[in-house]
Amino acid sequence: MNVLVINAGSSSLKFQLLDTTTRKVYAKGNCERIGIDGSFIGYNVNDGDKQKLEVALPDHKTAVKHVFDILAEAGFDTDKIEGIGHRVVQGGWYFPESKVVTDETLGWVREVAPLAPLHNYAEADVIEICREMFPSIGNVIVADSSFHYNIPEKAWRYALPRDVVDKLHIRKYGAHGTSHRYIWRSTKAFLGDDVHKLVSCHLGSGASLSAIEDGHELDTTMGLTPLDGLIMGTRCGTIDPATVCYLVREGGYTIDEVDTMMNKQSGLLALSGVSSDSRDIEEGANKGDANCQMAMDMFYYRTSQLVAEMAQSMHGFDTMAFSAGIGENSVTMRMGVAKELEWLGVKLDPEKNKVRSDEPRVISADDSKIKVLVVPTNEELMIALDVEALLSK
Ligand code: ADP
Repeated sequence: MNVLVINAGSSSLKFQLLDTTTRKVYAKGNCERIGIDGSFIGYNVNDGDKQKLEVALPDHKTAVKHVFDILAEAGFDTDKIEGIGHRVVQGGWYFPESKVVTDETLGWVREVAPLAPLHNYAEADVIEICREMFPSIGNVIVADSSFHYNIPEKAWRYALPRDVVDKLHIRKYGAHGTSHRYIWRSTKAFLGDDVHKLVSCHLGSGASLSAIEDGHELDTTMGLTPLDGLIMGTRCGTIDPATVCYLVREGGYTIDEVDTMMNKQSGLLALSGVSSDSRDIEEGANKGDANCQMAMDMFYYRTSQLVAEMAQSMHGFDTMAFSAGIGENSVTMRMGVAKELEWLGVKLDPEKNKVRSDEPRVISADDSKIKVLVVPTNEELMIALDVEALLSK
């Protein structure tokens, strides 16, 4: 099935057209700076070179129109597109699994939007635009939070007053669920009966871990929002929650300033003082920059601590999978995390760790108690497979 996958943000819209059977990607790109001066679309079609279309994108509707023009250029008129999959960041309490778009399901995306205002409103708008512009194509909602929906109550409940959490729907929702689901699937396909208890490590500019036992998740590191858990590119991850009150009361920051600080000005960027990009930080550390080295040491420390936490929720683990930008590419960061976990039986083979490939691969030593893999994630494919499953029913 030819599926268009759309990942809309407040000022961007990423897209990919792929065939679920051959897994071939026919077109992909990103509409950037929607609603802002200097908007453009970076894309490529049919394995061609990357192109840049500088074009006014006053709103998401204009962006969607341009995306369909690009698809037509790739040889895909609307009648050749068999479904559209929409990534939705927050499914709240309505999406234990992916669902076909109807008035009701679209309403749910908006209803839970206060939990992820920067994403859900734009996503809902784009779903509506696609329905209006291309009524013959089916649309599917794939929520990032779905995979985490059925973790045990002791894992998702917050120890806050019940009336408050009930009224405001406060709980651990998690994020990156589509990626963790794909990582499990890919690891299982690769290892067969050798994997039961997997710690899935999605380490990109956003980063989270997931404890998955025989396909069912038991816990994850992100919480009510994607700010919780690991130290990320620009996000602080878990800190004492009273820090927020302290910053407001004693620091004189507004709540919006604290929100921006914790989401956009913290994490590896704040620690290194150089960049949120792990490549720049590794380079800085190699040149002797002490702050960059501390950023990396803290990343290893926190990541390994939370890997142990995920393992605890499964009472053990047999496999660990590194994925996303850092997990798939950084030989140094993988080794740094693994070294912290040596006491738990994690041991990498330095040569295998250096291998570059787009395929899943084992990087642990033969005598490692825990099998360690690099498993490239593919959220778009996972979304497209859901679209196929739901629309071909
Ligand atoms: P997101 O999709 O959340 O924006 P990615 O999964 O693309 O993030 O990951 C981005 C992170 O991956 C950045 O910190 C970047 O430095 C890191 N990364 C990407 N490629 C490499 C590489 N070749 N070596 C080291 N780190 C890399």
